[in-house]
Amino acid sequence: MPGPLKTEGIVLRSLRYGEADRILHLYTPDRGRVSAIAKGVRRARSRFGGRLEPFFRVALVLYEGRSDLLTVTSAETVTGHARLREDAGALDAAGRAGDAVLRLFGDGEPQAPVFHLLCAELALLDADPAAATRANQLAFRLKLLLAAGLSPQLGSCASCGEREGVAGFSGAAGGVVCTACEAGSFALDEAAHAFLVEALGAPLAATPAAPERALRQAERAIAETVEHHAGVRLRAATARA
Ligand SMILES: [Zn+2]
Repeated sequence: MPGPLKTEGIVLRSLRYGEADRILHLYTPDRGRVSAIAKGVRRARSRFGGRLEPFFRVALVLYEGRSDLLTVTSAETVTGHARLREDAGALDAAGRAGDAVLRLFGDGEPQAPVFHLLCAELALLDADPAAATRANQLAFRLKLLLAAGLSPQLGSCASCGEREGVAGFSGAAGGVVCTACEAGSFALDEAAHAFLVEALGAPLAATPAAPERALRQAERAIAETVEHHAGVRLRAATARA
């Protein structure tokens, strides 16, 4: 139904289009991912100013016509995340966070928890760009998995339910596995298991630290879960240690 749509959104990508326009990939609480065109935004005197750059959180009015591409008619800054955008490490982490959201969640599905999680991650990176660690990126992905209903089983063997002797992780089984069920799994250290459990339970700002080897295993556990259950590959989480 054509008409105006008022929503908040986070700009995830901004692509040049035509002479002076941009096509934006936005993440919104009510519609999930939407694409919109901002006309004339690249002109010096655009009424949008610099507000439609990546990682701005904006209050938008979008006009919805007959095509899938909405038109931005108004944009006000909620948060510009200026510190984040000046720090290479934080910018890179924000880019990978947005990319994971775009790969895991499709168009047009309401995903308020994902929107709020992304807002929390960007706010954290803006308040403290040094928070852009690999552990932080993995914690964000774990919480995305939770929002997608793909949270790995960590309390007992995902194949047989055994609580003792859990020593591996299997993306196909959907979580940790015991020694009897370890076919197709890879070894998961105690520290990696603890990281997965604690990072899922803690706020993003309180993400636990873990040794490099444990983080490598945790990243593999997340990647294999996503590949098996969502058919999606995530970019590597390469951030400050
Ligand atoms: Zn088992």
